[in-house]
Amino acid sequence: MSTTPPFPRAHLATPALIVDLPAFERNVAAMAAWARGKRIALRPHAKTHKSGEIARRQIAAGAVGICCAKLGEAEALAAEGIEDILITSPVVPRQPVERLARLNERVERLAVVVDHPDNVDRLAAAVGDGRIDVLVDLDTGSHRTGVTSPEAAVSLAERIAANDALGYLGVQFYCGSLQHVPRFDDRQSALAERAAYLRTILQALSDAGLPARTVTGGGTGSFAIDAELGLLNELQAGSYIFMDRQYQECEPAALRFEQALSIDTRVISANTPGRVTIDAGLKAMATDGGAARVLAGADPGSAFLFMGDEHGMLVTPEGGADPRLDDLVTLLPPHCDPTVNLYDQYAICRDDLVIDTWPVSARGRSA
Ligand code: PLP
Ligand code: MN
Repeated sequence: MSTTPPFPRAHLATPALIVDLPAFERNVAAMAAWARGKRIALRPHAKTHKSGEIARRQIAAGAVGICCAKLGEAEALAAEGIEDILITSPVVPRQPVERLARLNERVERLAVVVDHPDNVDRLAAAVGDGRIDVLVDLDTGSHRTGVTSPEAAVSLAERIAANDALGYLGVQFYCGSLQHVPRFDDRQSALAERAAYLRTILQALSDAGLPARTVTGGGTGSFAIDAELGLLNELQAGSYIFMDRQYQECEPAALRFEQALSIDTRVISANTPGRVTIDAGLKAMATDGGAARVLAGADPGSAFLFMGDEHGMLVTPEGGADPRLDDLVTLLPPHCDPTVNLYDQYAICRDDLVIDTWPVSARGRSA
């Protein structure tokens, strides 16, 4: 069995994380072209892929840089040569803030969000003459992170701007809980309501003499609506490169991205008519998004059930044919980002050939 590409996809040990390269390339190009057409900066979120190779390809296609969710992710991708990174969660504990200051000296451009005055002071003390760009993180209603009023946004912006060690850049407004509203119209009206709130904050900042140069946010479910509303000038979409079952079940906005990520699995037990067991369970895909779906190798109407850490069951629908022992079954993952974080590498495929492998370099770098 060959392990140096190119080799047949059927030779991969399973479960294996598959990227359909042509579909992935079309997704990367489609979003880049769309952002260019709308004159909006694209800063894709690397939390989805955790890969220097993919970040480089997104930047080559026109992205201004990338987002990282965590400091460790940013460190891993900086080590692979990515030079323009926005960290989209506050970095708060003392030692990580010191690591952030060191990372700031290594890359061309690093920015981070803040949502508390104490964090502003700690960042400033750590970076000293290094200067780091800072954005005010706004709570968009989900209460995950971010300041919760226009007054708090102005006061935090003033504190940033007053500090020579920090560059005040603008605001982050990411409506995470609205990305997967299934109907486009419902998503649009919910985002329009949130945009009205954002407008009051942007106005308050301008009135205080601190206009936001960068207004960053948006995801795969909202980017086109955000752009239409005209408030964001930087898009953070991440999942569009791969897609997943959750996004496939939502009405698309502007672009219909292709499914480029899948999981190859094998039937390892087939002793009961109407059901088989495959070698992919809780450790093969994220479990927050419900069940996987069959893309190939078994009846697409099969029900998927988790059977513990290492196993899954496929129940054949009435009148369907059961897969046989050792058959290859390809699954559509429910939720892409936390699924990727379970694998060391991507098998990069064209048709039924593995043509390359790319490491998931920032895998597990959540600290
Ligand atoms: N921006 C932030 C702050 C996020 O947390 C995420 C994902 O959770 C994204 C952007 C990208 O969203 P999506 O993967 O849905 O495109
Ligand atoms: Mn996600």
